[in-house]
Formats: sequence, C-alpha cells, structure tokens
Amino acid sequence: MSKYWSDGIADLETYVPGEQPQDKKYIKLNTNENPYPPSPKVIQAIKNAADENLRLYPDPSCEKLCDTIARYYGVTKEEVFVGNGSDEVLAFSFAAFFDHDQPVLYPDVTYSFYPVYTNFFKLQSKTIELEEDFSIPVEKFFTPNGGIIICNPNAPTSRYLSIPEIRRLLDYNLAIERVVIVDEAYIDFGGQSIVGLIDAYPNLLVVQTLSKSRSLAGLRVGFAVGHRDLIEGLNRVKSSINSYTLDRLALFGAIEAFGDEEYFQATREKIIQTRNRVTHELRAIGFRVFESTANFIFISHSSIHAGELYAKLKENRVLVRYFRKPRIDNYLRVSIGTDDEMGTFVEVISRIVKSGA
Ligand code: PMP
Repeated sequence: MSKYWSDGIADLETYVPGEQPQDKKYIKLNTNENPYPPSPKVIQAIKNAADENLRLYPDPSCEKLCDTIARYYGVTKEEVFVGNGSDEVLAFSFAAFFDHDQPVLYPDVTYSFYPVYTNFFKLQSKTIELEEDFSIPVEKFFTPNGGIIICNPNAPTSRYLSIPEIRRLLDYNLAIERVVIVDEAYIDFGGQSIVGLIDAYPNLLVVQTLSKSRSLAGLRVGFAVGHRDLIEGLNRVKSSINSYTLDRLALFGAIEAFGDEEYFQATREKIIQTRNRVTHELRAIGFRVFESTANFIFISHSSIHAGELYAKLKENRVLVRYFRKPRIDNYLRVSIGTDDEMGTFVEVISRIVKSGA
C-alpha cells in the first residue's frame, strides 16, 4: 500500500501464477508447461534472429506471423491477432468486447484470470455453476449477458465441450449481439478447435497459445482468430497501449513453430499417450480422474485429502497444482510430464496412498 497509488490499485485482486522454483529440485507438474523442448528449428530461428537488427523495432503489425497463422488455419491474416501470450490477448479482448451494462458470464470453476480481468476492466460478472462432475450446463448461459467466455477444454477441470454445444451459446449470443470468447489454450491435446466456425459466427473469438502444445511458454506468444471486425477491435486496444507487444525473437520463433508440423504432431501425440496411461494407472489405485483432452489431469482420491497429497508430493520433490478454493479444494491438477517424470509421479503418489489410506 502506498499513498502514491491511483484509486483502485489497492483493491485489485491479482492473479497468482503457479510456483516457478528457481532450482531444479522438483519434478514440475504444476503450470501445464510442455515437458518437451521446442522444435530445434524454432531455437535455431531465434538464434539467427539474435543479430544486429535487434537495434530496430520489430514489425508492429506482426504481419508475417499473422499470415503464417492464417495459412495454418485456413483464414485470412485480417482474421488473426497476435499478442504477448494469450493472457495479453484475453486481457485486450475483455477490454474490446464485453459490455459494461450486463454481466459477463463464465463458469464458477474456470481459469482464474477471468475474474481478475473482469475486476480490472470494471465489468460485472455472473458465474454459471458447473454440474457436480464439472460438465458445463449450456442452458444456464441462456440469459442476457455482456459477453461469454469459456475455456475449452476447461481449466483446471479438463472437461471438454463439444462444438454443437458451443454453437448453442454462439446462436443465443448472436441473437442478442454479444461476443463469445472460446479460450482454446489446451485444444491441441485431443479436442477439436472451433476456429472453422468464424465465418458463420461474427461474434466468435477463438484464443490460442504457443505456450502449451508448441512448448513456448517462455517466448510469450498467443493469438486470436475471429471476424475481421473483432480483430480490428483488438488492434485498436493494442495500439492504445503498446505498439510492439511481440519482440523480434518471439516473431521469428513463433513463425518457425508453425513450420515444423512433424515435431508438433510427435510431441502432442506423446503427451496424449502418457496422459491416457497415467489416467488408467491412477484409477487403478482409487483416484477419480476426469476424462481429459488437455495436457493435465484433474484428480481426487476417496480417502486422502488433496491438500495433504499436495504437501506430501512436494516433500517428495513432485510439484503439482492445488487450489484452495470452493468446490475444488479436494482436487489436484497434474500437468503431464515425460514418461519418466510421470512414472516417478505415479510411484510416489501410490506410496503416499498406501501409507495413508
Ligand atoms: N488460458 C488458460 C486457460 C491458461 O491456463 C493459460 C495459462 N496459464 C493461458 C490462457 C495463458 O497462457 P499464455 O499467456 O502463456 O499464452
């Protein structure tokens, strides 16, 4: 608290990211990072870009990257916006599209940055209660709103909503002229992207990231795909805050990430296989594990509380994510690591369960 702060700064409820321990002590399964390195071609492109041209500003319109993403998804570059991580793209979207007179709707259990942006941009919100199994009851969203945001598959629950279900939300909001944002941060791990529907729905904005399926959390690149008028809205917000959100290295690296499809498919497949195996192994020792289409699983045990499991795993140098929050305080979110890391995780958690049950 400082007397120099503007009004409202002291009252902000800020987002708390997962721990990033600076030593290498832990098997780190707490922030949904990819356990595999980025494509070697991406690293080479970044090294090549680290030259004397760094004295120059990067391209403020990020044209080449927008064009690369557009071609990848079969849209035009005017339908693509890129930002410094999808968090920035989401923040700009909250500023650009949500109406101040009616509540923004999102599930009661979802990505915890949504309420933070809601407060920051002085929007109203209404949370929609998920079912007991964390599935999303679409009909409950059929109410006047200032916009809808859903995360698909949802975080931290890992539950997936099918495209026909999301279409119902889009139809409802098209009729009342409100935007629906679909945050697809984890879509590449088994879900089907709704990006193909942007022509049919001028109120649809799809947000994705290179942080997860393309192993580039450290590069900070996210993007949105939607009707060109929505993209223009995002560019207006961006150009009112910071012309150069992506640096030269990020631009070159991100372009290359879409060029190495073989590597992308191989690492994505590997994570899906590991996730399915671990799901099976955990169920065999008494865990409830939701079907996941993400690079993490959401788990709870019938006899040991999640808070205790989290602490014991940490003692054993395995870091997972525990949310001390209503409804989910008896669950752990576990990111999918390499086969070796997950082997150790299952071994340690089995020991804890055996000794504590
Ligand atoms: N959306 C969701 C649901 C996430 O879990 C994350 C990662 N914390 C993000 C968006 C943001 O990812 P990034 O800013 O790294 O693109």
